[in-house]
Amino acid sequence: MTLHQFIERPSVFAAEGAAAKTVYAVTPADLEAAGADGKGPDAAALAWAKAAGFAAEAGSLLLVPGEDGAVKSALFGLGGNPAEQPFAAGRLSKLLPAGDWKVETTALTGEQVALGFALGAYTFPRYRSDKQKGVRLLPSESTDRADLERKAAAVTLVRDLVNTPTNDMGPADLEQAFRALGEHYGATVTSIVGDELLAQNFPLIHAVGRASTTAPRLLEMRWSPKGKAAAKSITLVGKGVCFDTGGLDIKTSTGMALMKKDMGGAANVMGLALMIMDANLGLDLRVLVPAVENSIAGDAFRPGDIYKSRKGITVQIDNTDAEGRLVLADALAYADETPSDLMIDMATLTGAARVALGAELAPYFTDDEALSASSARPRHRRATRCGACRSGWVMTRISARVRQTSPMPRAVAWRAHHRSPLPQAFRHRNEELGAFRHLCLGAGGKAACAGRRRCLRHSRALWRHPRYGRQSVTAAKRNGNALSYNVLLTRQGDCRGQDPSRACGHLT
Ligand SMILES: [Zn+2]
Repeated sequence: MTLHQFIERPSVFAAEGAAAKTVYAVTPADLEAAGADGKGPDAAALAWAKAAGFAAEAGSLLLVPGEDGAVKSALFGLGGNPAEQPFAAGRLSKLLPAGDWKVETTALTGEQVALGFALGAYTFPRYRSDKQKGVRLLPSESTDRADLERKAAAVTLVRDLVNTPTNDMGPADLEQAFRALGEHYGATVTSIVGDELLAQNFPLIHAVGRASTTAPRLLEMRWSPKGKAAAKSITLVGKGVCFDTGGLDIKTSTGMALMKKDMGGAANVMGLALMIMDANLGLDLRVLVPAVENSIAGDAFRPGDIYKSRKGITVQIDNTDAEGRLVLADALAYADETPSDLMIDMATLTGAARVALGAELAPYFTDDEALSASSARPRHRRATRCGACRSGWVMTRISARVRQTSPMPRAVAWRAHHRSPLPQAFRHRNEELGAFRHLCLGAGGKAACAGRRRCLRHSRALWRHPRYGRQSVTAAKRNGNALSYNVLLTRQGDCRGQDPSRACGHLT
């Protein structure tokens, strides 16, 4: 592939046939067994590892010198359970000295190593000089290099778009990037800008974006495969709120700090579009991005305002910070006017979803159970959805139920939904989630009430947390079927210096 202007970087992969030094990526068990079959690190390297106390702990690196004192090879630790960290090779780009390297391992696939390495090598040099050391990886011969480069390029594009601050990535800049991507692959790109949105019946996109000095717009890309007929059609829609102040329902400074990322949905559909077009998949592709800035000015939309959407439904604005669903409502109604085999919408739509499920689990809604089952199959054993009941709906139900901070509500929600302990995959994947498997709300019962009259309203539970030590749930409260709780994480036991933090939640 030829990279387009937004992601031009030196390749993180070494030229084919390059002379590369070897990194042996090993588990403690590999290290134990090494040397027996003549494969892997040689006897001198193993002796060096032993002398240096290298135990193959996850993420550890040991450079191995040759007789002349120069670096000859390296050992990289994968820890005891490498399947839990499929992209562990991402650290290598930061740890290894400059030069060309290849990875020898039996614990990870060639693609996991190469993709992990490429993702870990990402830098964002737009505003300061690139400190990349010039470490390159020679992917193993079993990998599809074009596919690796395509995936790395798509992720780089998405990260660049999200990382670029709004003064350089407003609605007009996002349109420029969108056009550059489309033109690079010979797609047709159009846009509807400013008051033209009203003329063409996109009232909600206009209402949300009209207070910004950069006009709101709807971007559209259409692409067909080259040299073959399309078997299916796909429409991608991405939320492109380039900055979200919250509007007149203004966010707090901490809530607003990272709101340049509110176009992450648009960035992600652009990354997906890049992969589809670069691989020349047999799909008729359509991409829609409502690009706006949710600003505050005299003409900002207000709480209480009532608008008629493109679909003809009247919408009363309750909170101007719920702008994502408004711009998407018009974009999705428009997308639906031309039927396609599959429509995917991506959005940073509500913080509540992330609050409930954390960064690792992506909640989604679909009315297609078969699609849900096929698209959410966990890859690399890194569960990205409810692994036990195999339904995307579970996650959405949980996110609607649980609000508040900390990973704890996720664990509680899990238990509430499945009425069972956390599954194995969760226990070991996330230290904090794992800790909460012993949590039992209300376990303290009467004794913990310390004389209060109604113990259900003041129950207390204790459990051990690997980082914070003994913890207590205070002020658990039952309101009908709902249970609210308040947790204080205190510095006790094996505290590694983290600040005490509070978490509270509400569970129905
Ligand atoms: Zn908002």
